[in-house]
Amino acid sequence: MRECSNNIPESTFSALLDALSRGESPGREGWRMLLSALDGGQAERIRDRAFEVARARFGGGVYIRGLIEISSCCRNNCYYCGLRRSNRHASRYRLTAEEVLDCCREGARSGFGTFVLQGGEDEGQDDDWMEATVKAIRAEFPAQAITLSVGERSREAYRRFREAGADRYLLRHETRNDAHYARLHPAEMSGAHRRDCLRALKELGYQVGAGMMVGSPGQTVDCLLDDIAFLEELRPEMIGMGPFVPAAHTPFARHAAGSVDLTLRLIALMRLRFPDALIPATTALATLDGRGREEGIRSGANVVMPNLSPVAVRERYSIYDGKASWGSEAAEGLRALEQELNRIGCHIAYGRGDYPGHGGGLK
Ligand code: SAH
Repeated sequence: MRECSNNIPESTFSALLDALSRGESPGREGWRMLLSALDGGQAERIRDRAFEVARARFGGGVYIRGLIEISSCCRNNCYYCGLRRSNRHASRYRLTAEEVLDCCREGARSGFGTFVLQGGEDEGQDDDWMEATVKAIRAEFPAQAITLSVGERSREAYRRFREAGADRYLLRHETRNDAHYARLHPAEMSGAHRRDCLRALKELGYQVGAGMMVGSPGQTVDCLLDDIAFLEELRPEMIGMGPFVPAAHTPFARHAAGSVDLTLRLIALMRLRFPDALIPATTALATLDGRGREEGIRSGANVVMPNLSPVAVRERYSIYDGKASWGSEAAEGLRALEQELNRIGCHIAYGRGDYPGHGGGLK
């Protein structure tokens, strides 16, 4: 038997995993141990257990969401993001409602059960535009789920989008630690406001996605422990976690990328803690590692978000460098994706893929 100095004592490790499988939180110090540098054996066991849990819940099905990047214009200035307003090198575009509808048509033909509209906080796509666009999609596609990811808006705007037919909203909290939040964002933005938005979205009956970048500048293990505590409190239906990837012409352009292994560990741990959650194998993971998406699924992720944006704008939605939007990251690549999934005993799950107990319009 191999002795591994970095491992947690076996009895402690099993007790932590057992607590997770009983639906209990391991607590802050338990989480700290589970996030620590474990040697192969234990790290692999966490991922294997998470993959088993996902397979037991979802039968090997992986939901696909068609990602439509509706605008690269943004009024915000987040230090990590290539679309920040101060980046003069960013290439700006804005889809029209008709172009968005065309993407949805294409997606529906390919079998997508969810459309995700994501973009910068673009004043050219104001609340009226968003509401009208959601209404138009809802009218033409009564069966598909509509997910929005267009940043911080007023509660009233969120209410209008919901009534127009939006089902889900992705708004990563980015980091629960306020000092860390201030390291990543200019002073006019606040983590507290973002969390208020998330709570408003929950109250309005959206399926809500929170989450964080892994390895963003200044992130410590304690930041991640704060993030986990926040997720335990909010209980979002979706949890999006990807490694930080440096973006050219931003203050963090020369910062190191986040760790793929730590991202996979977090995916696995969140799967164990929240067995029903919708957890994507993110594009950032696939960008840093050619096998990232597959490894994400092997760690318990159950969602992928192939790119459904018009081919002409894909290169321009450049939130970070080298963003994957081709092959099985692209909507045209569903066959390749299916083969990739089959190799690990999984398959594409068509259909809306709502969180259990949700779906089917306004309650
Ligand atoms: N404007 C929307 C959508 C942002 S893009 C919003 O604010 O919610 C979606 C996510 O990409 C962000 O929430 C952030 O977590 C992630 N992201 C942005 N820049 C990144 C980078 N350089 N590396 C990795 N992820 C990044």
